[in-house]
Amino acid sequence: MLQGRILTPGGWINGSIAFDQRIAGITEGPVGEGLTIIPGFVDLHVHGASGVDIMEGGDAGAVVARSHARHGTTALLGTTLTAKEDSIRHALQGLAGVIAQRPRHGARMLGVHLEGPFLNRRRLGAQPPDVVTGSRALVESYHAIAPIRVLTMAPEVTGHLELIPHLKDMGIRVQIGHSAGSYDDGVAAMRAGAAGFTHLFNGMSGMSHKEPGMVDVAMAHAEYAEIIPDLLHVHPGAMRAALRAIPRLYGVTDATSATGMPDGEYALGTQRVFKCMGCVRLATGSLAGSVLTMDQALRNFVSLGMEVAEASQRLSLFPADYLGESQRGRLAPGAWADIVVLDQSLHPVAVFVEGEAIPLS
Ligand SMILES: [Zn+2]
Repeated sequence: MLQGRILTPGGWINGSIAFDQRIAGITEGPVGEGLTIIPGFVDLHVHGASGVDIMEGGDAGAVVARSHARHGTTALLGTTLTAKEDSIRHALQGLAGVIAQRPRHGARMLGVHLEGPFLNRRRLGAQPPDVVTGSRALVESYHAIAPIRVLTMAPEVTGHLELIPHLKDMGIRVQIGHSAGSYDDGVAAMRAGAAGFTHLFNGMSGMSHKEPGMVDVAMAHAEYAEIIPDLLHVHPGAMRAALRAIPRLYGVTDATSATGMPDGEYALGTQRVFKCMGCVRLATGSLAGSVLTMDQALRNFVSLGMEVAEASQRLSLFPADYLGESQRGRLAPGAWADIVVLDQSLHPVAVFVEGEAIPLS
């Protein structure tokens, strides 16, 4: 049982929350210390942490799930990079084990975000150039190894538009990303069933009033899109524009293996990347994922003037709802006891994943 200011789907309640693996009840009552209790974070775009990349396969997913849990993430999607087919299979085999059994002291791995290889080679960002055209057979063979929940694709690549309804039927959320497509390409993709946008603004055709691109599609039509709130990938001004336009804009980290590590050289799939001054770059200087954690994302949102309740929704409730996870991302009786306790400076002082207390140091 915990006491404090508790964020429920109906708003703040002063009182106590009782739980084992699931939340038993929330009761109003007197509170002592001024602790803030919010739902655990749900991060739908995670490549790594603590020097380990999901593409390494094996136990990498467990290391990543433990590392992010210490920052309040209670559920996540292991995110693969564009790579040769056998490397992707190797990463998926590793993830399958972590998805089947939650690692002790780790966040729940809900499935896979397949970020590539079905991308536009002109908008690769930090992704290696091993792009291929997507096919139903290839996605089904990946899906048979580990459940794909989110798939990023460039819909303008020949053959991809026709693929979208099949992916949707498989229960996969199709996201537009790493795309050079036009406004019309994006609208067609959404009509075909694409539901989201991958790291909005980054790796896609930008806003233009004469030649609109994918950012315009998101602003004009999307209910959901992911964004990286590290205040480096997207300027606060552009973030504010997106917040006004996209009702359920939600934060992801896009965290790499350099997260939680000292400055230096790290792997991002087959690429070498360099961590320095709070960001990760290729040798060319372009941004290559982040070193963001979800608790920092919360503080960054709040630094833009956002209320804690809204910042929490954009890091827990909205991504959970987007994925159809109605028992996560919220503090309500019956839901999983995925809980973060924050001090007054919004740093986690306790984290629970499905009721298990996570050691924070
Ligand atoms: Zn990514």
